[in-house]
Amino acid sequence: MGRGLHFAVPCPHGIRLTDQQVAELESRPWRAHITEHENWCELQKGHAGPHHSLAQSDEAGDHWIRWTDTAFGTVVLPICPAKGRAEDDIEDTCCLLFEGHEGTHIYEFEDI
Ligand SMILES: [Zn+2]
Ligand SMILES: [Zn+2]
Repeated sequence: MGRGLHFAVPCPHGIRLTDQQVAELESRPWRAHITEHENWCELQKGHAGPHHSLAQSDEAGDHWIRWTDTAFGTVVLPICPAKGRAEDDIEDTCCLLFEGHEGTHIYEFEDI
C-alpha cells in the first residue's frame, strides 16, 4: 500500500472486574454487549495514559473502563471518527476506539 503505516500490537494489560462492577454495567438499559469479568486494554502497547477497555454501549454512548495501577473508573466517550484499512483489507473499517485515543487506530493493529 505504501502509506507508511506502522503496524502496532495491542497493550497486554488487563483488568478483572468484580461481580458488582459487572452487574452495574449489565444493568444498563439498551445494553449492546455482554460485559465480561476479564477485560483487556484496547490501546497500542506502550501507550502513556490510562488503560481503556470498552465495557458496554447503550443509548448514552460507549462506556469505557479506564484504569491505572491505582485507579479505576468508567467513562462515556465518543467514538473515534477515523476509518482506514490494514494492508490486506479490501475495504475501509472503522477504528471503534474512542475519539482522541493514544497510539494507532485499531485497523492498524497486526492480526495476532
Ligand atoms: Zn493499556
Ligand atoms: Zn482511532
